[in-house]
Formats: sequence, C-alpha cells, structure tokens
Amino acid sequence: MKLRKVTAAAAAALVLSLTATACGGDDKDSDTGSGSTDGGGTIKVGIKYDQPGLGLKEAGGDFSGFDVDVATYVAKELGYAPDKIEFVETKSADRETALARGDVKFIAATYSITDERKQKVDFAGPYLLAHQDLLTKADSDITEATDLNGKKLCSVTGSTSAQNVKDEIAPKAQLRSYGTYSECIAGLQSGAVDAVTTDDSILAGFAAQEQYKGQFKLAGLKLSNENYGIGVKKGDTETVNKINAALEKMVSDGAWETAVKENFGPANYKNEPAPKIGDIKS
Ligand code: GLU
Repeated sequence: MKLRKVTAAAAAALVLSLTATACGGDDKDSDTGSGSTDGGGTIKVGIKYDQPGLGLKEAGGDFSGFDVDVATYVAKELGYAPDKIEFVETKSADRETALARGDVKFIAATYSITDERKQKVDFAGPYLLAHQDLLTKADSDITEATDLNGKKLCSVTGSTSAQNVKDEIAPKAQLRSYGTYSECIAGLQSGAVDAVTTDDSILAGFAAQEQYKGQFKLAGLKLSNENYGIGVKKGDTETVNKINAALEKMVSDGAWETAVKENFGPANYKNEPAPKIGDIKS
C-alpha cells in the first residue's frame, strides 16, 4: 500500500476547514469537559490502527485508510482541521465504552450499525456497505461457510463477524476470538487457524499487503450486510445531524469517491456504491 503523508481528501479538508474557521460558524468548544474535545480546539476520533486500507497507523506514525479519510472530512465539517485531530485506537470490543465514557467524540472504525449497538450508542450514516467474507490460505479447500464445520475460524471479540458465526454462519466451527484482525491474520499465516472471517473490505486490505501477496484468498461470499456508521455518544443528536450532513457533502463533492479509489484501489476491493443516509440494508 502506498504511504501517503497527507491524502488528497485530507488536503481538501484542510482548505475547507480554514474557510470554515474564517467564517467562525462552529461551536466546537461547547462541549468542553467531555474529554473528546477541548478548549484548545482539538478533537479525539476513534479509528482502527491495524486495518490496512481502512484504519492504519503507519510505521512512521501517519494514519491512512478510508475510515481515516472519512473521519478527517467529518472533523473538518465539525470545525477541526486535520492537525487538530487526535486519533485514538478503538478496537472492536472497546467502541461502545469509548463513546459512553467520552474518550472520543466519534468513531469511524468499520463500525456496523446494529440494533443491539443502537441501545448503547447513536450512529450517523451509513457511509459504506461491506459484507462478511472468509479469508483462507491460497491452497485451502474451504470455499463455503459449511466447509468451516470443525475448522478453526478466527474473528474478533465484540465484532458482528464473531457474533454472526455463532448465530448462523458456522455454529459448528471452532471460533477463536482475538483482540484484533492483525492477530487473526498472523494466526492464518502460521497455521494456528484455518480461516479468518470479517468484512470483505478488511480482508481485502490484508490480502493485498506486500508481505502476504499470493498467500491468501478471499472466498467471495456475501455472508452479511455490514452498514458502516459513525458512532457517537448516545443522545448526541446534534453531532449525529452534523455528521450526516458532512457525509452527504462528502459524497456529493466527490471526496467519497476519491477516498474509495485511493484506499480500496490498491487492494482491488470492489466496493458498493455510496449508501444513502439512513438506508440500512438488513
Ligand atoms: N463491521 C463489523 C463490526 O462492526 C466487523 C469489523 C469490526 O470488528 O470492526 O463488528
């Protein structure tokens, strides 16, 4: 994957945010004290740190990925330039707690909108539709979910992927729940597990990594609909509305498409078209 210091979307965000600041129309300091924003004009945003193409902390400390670009665009619309964003790692199992505690203002971290999660957090979006899939070694004979019976299948604690495995996809698989997908991928490479399951967007990003090229294959099964939303603290309707407006703008001004091409192009991931706000595919 190409390393980028500042993405095109982030650069555009900077220009626009300077304009926004000049107009002075935001109320970024109104929630001082929640911990997720401060009087100095910074905002804390939850992302993944280990998912290439979506949310990745590079070796040099830069951040890249589609979620990073979406988060950067949204933050700009909320009145925060890229250099005012503090990214915080929010692993799958930690997202609801991070929002409830006010550790972050919002989360853009391959975070599927579900009824269960909506009991605890609010969502803006969706901004991407992905599907659960399987990743195996290139020479594996696992091609269908039914081939997983008795096999060691890795997913991540707190994810819809792990839950779907238990509930319907492969209840008879030996589910190994790890803390992150990069740990699952390491397990697949070493032979500790036979397959990894999560969103196709995430798996494609790993499979395209230089060190894994040619070693893995995606089954290409659309085992679920994963509607990615931006998580915010329960009850913060004002932020949800602002983020929805930002996401609509990101699609209409072409920044969404640019971010898709830059981040999913290298992984050859064929994403679904931009979803409409509020249109959740079940
Ligand atoms: N999108 C799914 C979820 O929100 C799987 C990816 C993840 O764990 O972030 O649980």
